[in-house]
Amino acid sequence: MSETNVTPEHLRLCDFCNVIQDEKHHLVSCLRHASLRETLFAKANDLIPNFNQLSSDGKFTSLLMSDNLDMLYAIGKYLIEADCLQ
Ligand SMILES: [Zn+2]
Repeated sequence: MSETNVTPEHLRLCDFCNVIQDEKHHLVSCLRHASLRETLFAKANDLIPNFNQLSSDGKFTSLLMSDNLDMLYAIGKYLIEADCLQ
């Protein structure tokens, strides 16, 4: 695929929230996956110090930077289950 065939970011809208759909939106704020995210964030709060106090950017970064296998498994499970809901 050439660069010109890529949908510009401002046109990638979440059809549920009507905001730009990017990786951060999908993982930490999309309302479509709120119930799945409760499970993910509960695990993150157990494994990542002060997770619940972090901003959305901080949560996104800390999830992606985690090297804890339980956390990585929970992220993978969230992504698989969230994609099944679309
Ligand atoms: Zn959304």
